[in-house]
Amino acid sequence: MATETAPEQTGTLAVNAENILPIIKKWLYSDKEIFLRELISNAMDAITKLRHVGLSEGLGDLGDLGDLAIDIRIDREKGTLTVSDEGIGMSADEIRQYIAQVAFSGAEEFVRRYEIDAEKNQIIGHFGLGFYSAFMVADRVEVLSRSYRPDESATRWICDGGLEYTMAPAERSRGTDVILHLAEDDKEYLETARVEHVIKKYCNYLPIAIRLDGKTLNDRSPLWTRMPQGLKDEDYLEFYRKAFPFEDDPLFWIHLNADYPFRLQGILYFPKFKHELDASRGQIQLFCNQVFVSDHADDLIPRFMAVLRGMIDGPDIPLNVSRSALQNDPYVRKISTYITKKIADRLVSLFKTQRETFEKHWEDIHPFVKFGIMEDEKFYDAVKDVVLFETTRGGHTTLKDYLERNEARQGKQIYYAAKGDAQATYLQLLEAEGLEALFTHTVLDSHFIQFLEHKGPDIRWSRVDASVSDLLVDRSHKTIVDADGRSTDDRIVDVFKAVLGQEADVEIQVQHLKSAEVPALVIQPEQARRLKEMSALLGEPMALPGRKTLVVNASSALVQKALADVDAREDLCRQVYDLARLAHEGLPGEEMAQFIARSHRLLAR
Ligand code: ADP
Repeated sequence: MATETAPEQTGTLAVNAENILPIIKKWLYSDKEIFLRELISNAMDAITKLRHVGLSEGLGDLGDLGDLAIDIRIDREKGTLTVSDEGIGMSADEIRQYIAQVAFSGAEEFVRRYEIDAEKNQIIGHFGLGFYSAFMVADRVEVLSRSYRPDESATRWICDGGLEYTMAPAERSRGTDVILHLAEDDKEYLETARVEHVIKKYCNYLPIAIRLDGKTLNDRSPLWTRMPQGLKDEDYLEFYRKAFPFEDDPLFWIHLNADYPFRLQGILYFPKFKHELDASRGQIQLFCNQVFVSDHADDLIPRFMAVLRGMIDGPDIPLNVSRSALQNDPYVRKISTYITKKIADRLVSLFKTQRETFEKHWEDIHPFVKFGIMEDEKFYDAVKDVVLFETTRGGHTTLKDYLERNEARQGKQIYYAAKGDAQATYLQLLEAEGLEALFTHTVLDSHFIQFLEHKGPDIRWSRVDASVSDLLVDRSHKTIVDADGRSTDDRIVDVFKAVLGQEADVEIQVQHLKSAEVPALVIQPEQARRLKEMSALLGEPMALPGRKTLVVNASSALVQKALADVDAREDLCRQVYDLARLAHEGLPGEEMAQFIARSHRLLAR
């Protein structure tokens, strides 16, 4: 149906636009640059529509559509930025209908939604503002368009953002130019670098070529749109390096590619973490059909995944709803479950097929895995068997393997020690007995262990300094009792009590350890220590009950000497006590000085 454009017409916009623009400008001030994304999206739609028409109507006199591109041109002299396409174009009637009416009512609708939506700043993307957003940066917008239909001529539509517009016949081949006469405050969009930055931000992966003054800027088939089968590691790495320049190479990645029950594509990379959970460094960009929407995918993915980097492209993701609505959206929940499962699968397959690589990366990824486990039941179920701990036997072990190896002697008892050499003496004792302990990462693992205990209450976790294992004690030893009814062990307690007296807040206990090397150990019950650590973590350290115990080793020559040598006894007992404390958690400053002075004295004897 041909429409006629009378030589010059004026019209009035269908909706009241007077107030809309100032409101939109105010709300989207920091997001102004999205006008370019909106115009490029429209141009892309116009080209896509033309392709469909070409297919359904037969190419006919459309000719060869060739490799249609979107051209952006800057004209500094005229102060204009033009977005142009050879897409489906618009007739005069269509301009009147779609631009003058739909676009403006679209803007009005947008304002209404923004007004009622309490979380307006969190609307993902701001899709829906469309053509009207041109007025955020231009005080005059021209549309020069010609429909693909052979019997249509071209039309020029001009509007200054108010209610009035003019329309007149013009010259153009098929397609549309949107010409923005940039406002005084928005001349930045005449700078190539600025425009290039915005295009790359939003349109870097668009499927149609985007040229800025002739130079193509975008990658039309980003990696996530390609079939994983044909891709090599190097392809993923190269893509990562381009998308996240100046970053270390990622550890590994997951290619998401779902068709059913929803469409979702993407690549998620595990970056090399520099600290335990450096969430700020994660970055997941959200796309809708290759158009960048947002770098806040927080609502689509579980919290613990915020450390990952990559892209998620979901053409069906509802982009215009608020955050709270998004979280309750069953479709969004399905996506989240799907991604969680994919990540778990990847971890498990890495564990099964490339155990060495998995172990190598474990120290980088363990916080991610542990947080995931504690946050998400399904994730826990899927990956619980690939959780690793560093072991005193060297390398890493799963808990299952640890228990299997040690169950015969230890039962369901897991010994652990803080990583580093804080509990080295205790570990030596265990090792001498062929017992195995696991190393833990202090803060995170104290939570994680509690979580695991909750899941498997029959397994006991004790730090190596929580008690003296029966396995370390020499049971063959016979206690000899004096004529006065006191045993040697009693006398050791007496001697230590007499010397250490009130000042040392410890229980004193005597054991005959199999090893004679260690004269004494400080022991602190597991639960008491945990409570203390927890309260320190909360910033309110409290004096908790649960005294420490000094376990004096009667098998030690040094202890026997303290018993026999009355002159050196006091120094020796104190030395034994301080050595035990040193091996446990160190000595406070003043006592350290005394310890050193006493050491000198003893060595000089
Ligand atoms: P939306 O794109 O969400 O429909 P817009 O305000 O962006 O809303 O655009 C309104 C309508 O104007 C579009 O639906 C389309 O029909 C028409 N239009 C906009 N830009 C172009 C273009 N470059 N080529 C052809 N038609 C266009």
